[in-house]
Amino acid sequence: MFNPFKKIQNFASTLKRHRSAPLHLEFVVSDYCNLNCKGCTHYSPLAPKEFESLEQLERNAAHLGRISSGGKDLDSVYIIGGEPLLYPGLPQAMNILRQHFPNCRILLFTNGLALPRMTEDFWASAHENNITAAITRYPVKFDYDAAIKLCEDKGVACEVFGDRTLKDSFFRFGLDPTKSQNRHLSHFKCYNYGCISVIGDRIYPCSISGCAGHLNKAAGNIFTHEAGDYLEVEEVKSLKQIKRLRDRPVPFCAYCKMPPDTVPYGPSKRDISEWIDK
Ligand code: SF4
Ligand code: SF4
Repeated sequence: MFNPFKKIQNFASTLKRHRSAPLHLEFVVSDYCNLNCKGCTHYSPLAPKEFESLEQLERNAAHLGRISSGGKDLDSVYIIGGEPLLYPGLPQAMNILRQHFPNCRILLFTNGLALPRMTEDFWASAHENNITAAITRYPVKFDYDAAIKLCEDKGVACEVFGDRTLKDSFFRFGLDPTKSQNRHLSHFKCYNYGCISVIGDRIYPCSISGCAGHLNKAAGNIFTHEAGDYLEVEEVKSLKQIKRLRDRPVPFCAYCKMPPDTVPYGPSKRDISEWIDK
């Protein structure tokens, strides 16, 4: 039987959970990837082999480190892609982030495939900067247990963050090109809630919005950003502004159909229908 009080209660508790969630920042170093997953939320199958410059990363880290007391007021900082192990400046990037965020956890999100080929520079930097390798398992032929053991042998903390080999663990976020979704509802039900993405000199509430440029290149500039969709890093004065960006719907949310569909894992055909609904 429909119970309106239960619904109000659920609404209030979800809102409370969202608003009180600790803040983390995701530094996107590249959307290029060595896997090619259908419906990737960074649109990696469409992304060129391009990387964030270390100068931009340092500017962003210095500013955001300053306003977060070196990360003390954050839960954690992520280095994310695409596949960040392909980032040529990764050892320096880890040094930079640890220098500006000495007071929080730093996690390196990876599918792990390139770990066996990483250089000693990489391992030394990850160890010295106390970086945690956060591995997501994918249903591909790769010895994840050996990769986890390798991290242990190199003195690098490692955790399996996600397991995409499990049934119902892959999603398709179909965007509505007419931008006619209820943005409040989409934001309330958002599966990417809290994935604050630092990309170039901007901060977006999620990769779905922040990385939409790859989709626009493939589909012909369908998706636009408006004032309120992002913050300019250098103009952010306090973490409250970032929290507000996370906790309130932005105009881009009207493109998002939530909840996403659960789909079987598979390779991308680089067809825009993987991301855009008719
Ligand atoms: S491994 Fe992750 S980033 Fe790479 S294509 Fe797959 S979902 Fe995207
Ligand atoms: S645009 Fe809004 S609803 Fe869509 S994924 Fe980002 S935060 Fe969630």
